[in-house]
Amino acid sequence: MSHPEFEEYGFDTLAVRAGQVRTHEGEQSEPIFTTASYVFASAAEAAARFSGSSPGNIYSRFTNPTVRTFEQRLAALEGGERCVATASGMAAIATTCLGLLKAGDHIVASRSVFGPTVLLFSNILARFGIDTTFVSLTDTNAWEQAIRPNTKLLFLETPSNPLMEIGDIAAIAEIAHRHGCVLAVDNCFCTPALQKPLALGADIVVHSATKFIDGQGRCVGGAIVGSEALVGGGIYSFLRTAGPSMSPFNAWVFLKGLETLRLRMYAHCASALHLAQWLEKQSQIITVNYPGLASHPQHALAARQQSGFGGVLSFEVKGGREAAWALIDATKMISITANLGDSKSTITHPATTTHGRITPEARAQAGITEGLVRVAVGLEDVADLQADLQRGLSAVAQLGA
Ligand SMILES: *Cc1c(COP(=O)(O)O)cnc(C)c1O
Repeated sequence: MSHPEFEEYGFDTLAVRAGQVRTHEGEQSEPIFTTASYVFASAAEAAARFSGSSPGNIYSRFTNPTVRTFEQRLAALEGGERCVATASGMAAIATTCLGLLKAGDHIVASRSVFGPTVLLFSNILARFGIDTTFVSLTDTNAWEQAIRPNTKLLFLETPSNPLMEIGDIAAIAEIAHRHGCVLAVDNCFCTPALQKPLALGADIVVHSATKFIDGQGRCVGGAIVGSEALVGGGIYSFLRTAGPSMSPFNAWVFLKGLETLRLRMYAHCASALHLAQWLEKQSQIITVNYPGLASHPQHALAARQQSGFGGVLSFEVKGGREAAWALIDATKMISITANLGDSKSTITHPATTTHGRITPEARAQAGITEGLVRVAVGLEDVADLQADLQRGLSAVAQLGA
């Protein structure tokens, strides 16, 4: 961390204070620096900045004080040396791959990663000679078996979307390091408030800041956190040259999001657990996927590796797509949208939206059935959320009648 004085502070203090550099105006809240470039005192200073021999701002594609404050704050929260902010979560994943890999390299990735991540690996990186083998998130042996001499990167997301499966970060990090590979973890669903992949052995954390870091569904952004050698090396260098950068305004929104992150995450977790336990008792439901339930197959692993079980759950309703759609349409408050990590709860039918572009066989293999519904639990009163889902369940009951 660049500010040694922060090392003694706890998570909530870092979330509010880390990375702030007050200007001569004495502002209490962090300013938004909306400037494309910076002025140098002399031609010699300009030359020193451009050559890298003198630190400081050059151009906002790769140096902006508001973006830097966000980067330093998130790095402090994840326990990483360096953070690079990006234009979106997908830009964070693409920048990680393009900053670290070259033609001929190989990736081993969890089959249960975000849909566009699968498309990035299998359709786009493949065109540049980088192949990916997809394996089950929960089958740790399969990760080791998939490694080839040219494997450079292992990539996973835990908990997974939408089935909330848990990957064993420490075990997969150990495999990665034994084979000289880097492990990157998409920490979008937990955020550092609930899970610290770097402390568990991962080398890189990627984020979609769009989700819980913003927390109110306003801006699209992403970030990459890790060691100075990895993130400050090839990854920063790719960002500086190719330019998938975060805007200062979005950085400011995410900075404010970080200040309330842990409070919000704990509220999301409490409501999600309440709803998961209630849904599990309803006769129209076949299964509820939430790592906080004792019935979850990796409940013990989740309890060990996370300090909360997260704000997202999914469940399978009896009656397939017809029942799932009837349930969704009968809710009147919860928003029908595919985003998550918002203070407003959202409800989604993964098979026909977020996972609609993958083949039916791939969907079946991933366990995304026609009756599956995902709820990203927001910050409304939990009684109102339960009543809204009850409307949905009553509509399903009427279908069967
Ligand atoms: C949304 C999401 C992404 C992509 O983030 P964008 O900001 O939409 O580009 C990546 N990973 C996970 C787990 C996500 O939920």
